Amino acid sequence: MSTADDSRLYIDGEFVEPSSDEWFGSTDPYTGDDWIKIPRGVEADVDRAVAAAHEAVFHSEWADLTQTERGEYLFELADVLEERGDRHAEMEVRDNGKPIREMRGQHEAIPDWYRYYGGLADKIHGDTISVHKPDKHVYTEKEPVGVVGAITPWNSPTMLVTWKLAPALAAGNAVVLKPDEKTSASALALAEAVDEAGFPDGVVNVVTGYGSEAGEALVSHELVDKISFTGGSETGSYIASQAGKTFKQTSMELGGKSPNIVFPDANLKNALNGALAGIFSATGQSCSAGSRLLLHEDIHDEFVEELAARAERIELGDPSDPNTEMGPLASDDQFETVESYVSIAKEAGSTLVTGGDPVTIDGCDRFFQPTIFTDVDNADRLAQEEVFGPVLAVIEFGSEAEAVEIANDVDFGLAGGVWTEDIRRAHRVSSAIRAGRIWVNNYGNSSFTAPQGGYKESGWGRENGVDGIEEYLETKTVWIELDEGTDDKFA
Ligand code: NAD
Repeated sequence: MSTADDSRLYIDGEFVEPSSDEWFGSTDPYTGDDWIKIPRGVEADVDRAVAAAHEAVFHSEWADLTQTERGEYLFELADVLEERGDRHAEMEVRDNGKPIREMRGQHEAIPDWYRYYGGLADKIHGDTISVHKPDKHVYTEKEPVGVVGAITPWNSPTMLVTWKLAPALAAGNAVVLKPDEKTSASALALAEAVDEAGFPDGVVNVVTGYGSEAGEALVSHELVDKISFTGGSETGSYIASQAGKTFKQTSMELGGKSPNIVFPDANLKNALNGALAGIFSATGQSCSAGSRLLLHEDIHDEFVEELAARAERIELGDPSDPNTEMGPLASDDQFETVESYVSIAKEAGSTLVTGGDPVTIDGCDRFFQPTIFTDVDNADRLAQEEVFGPVLAVIEFGSEAEAVEIANDVDFGLAGGVWTEDIRRAHRVSSAIRAGRIWVNNYGNSSFTAPQGGYKESGWGRENGVDGIEEYLETKTVWIELDEGTDDKFA
């Protein structure tokens, strides 16, 4: 384990010890060891970070920069992160147990996000508005929201921070980041990269700590103008209600229970690849996992048989081994959740086709077999609740209308997949699914240019693309009098 000296909060451009003078261990889910100490930031640290961010966004050189100059800081950060990507990926493997090949892929892509938003920084502009009053010239200006409190989860730590940090900075805000307590090491490494990129003091601050301490303090702080949250729907609902007390803006990227629908006319080989990756990538710990597989009755049995055979061949093992395809679950809590849903599905009368059991590899007992249940009713808990693990619910349907009805009969609305060779059906069904992102004949793609976000209990607001930067901008409308005099309304 590293010493406490290695790990500090990043506030106002300096690496500082937490005012609690306490650190907690971050557990490697594969070895079970606490491999690094994380500073326990508390309310006093959040106060300092928010004050620094407030100063930075409203009174410092950051506020006076041109939009082009701001963008250049993001380009610099992209270059620094490109050099450090491998190291950051390895840290995240230790923190959440995801396979190194997935984490390397993410870290290779992350600089592109900073470059995209760096380029977008000086393309932000207001409009000239045509009004029905001929003697007035009206235009809008786009301004930063102010201090952004970013709160993020553990499943793709730096990628999910990047989806907030890059647009928030490009829009001219200052950020206080509170990463998940289970995966904070790479957020502190990101702070080092920000420091090396030379951002002005206070523009980016990282306060690690528990949700109930540092997180709560950030959400209730009166100088925070916006909370951008990614995490579970229950936590999101609570945070939104707390943030509402001080009228903060919020954006919420929450959970999902996404339908992945295979029609009988689909290219079944491709659909199999998509179904497999949709649920078992990241050990199922993905917000957009295709965790409800809707199969047409004509192909159901054959598809399930082949899918189960493929699932059984997935290579489980040491997440730092490049050949490993599925790592352990990220924490004991996550492991217990997965086990409990397997019991729930069995009790509901679903058929266990494959998996269903824990596996011990090299002494690590947090692995779980890729698991598939058929005969799942869409009203069952396995079909309605997010497991966030490698457990697939297969639901049979007869008609297109029935597939759409099942797809939408859930509280979430994050994403969905449609597999068909019929172009008309592809458009019809994509349009009918109430979710923020639909993939047709592919599953799980994202890009810095393409917005994504949730409907219903999957949240509100959009990340990525031009929509993503709008979340961090205020619109101000300016009315200019063109006449020499003004009317005396009291004459
Ligand atoms: P979580 O809600 O438990 O925690 C997320 C963050 O919130 C952590 O940083 C935590 O410390 C903080 N937090 C917890 N309680 C808080 C409080 N009272 N006040 C302030 N902050 C608090 O989520 P999790 O279980 O770590 O993450 C998994 C969830 O995230 C899943 O539901 C998943 O679907 C969702 N997720 C969504 C997206 C998306 O883009 N929609 C992406 C990834 C994950």
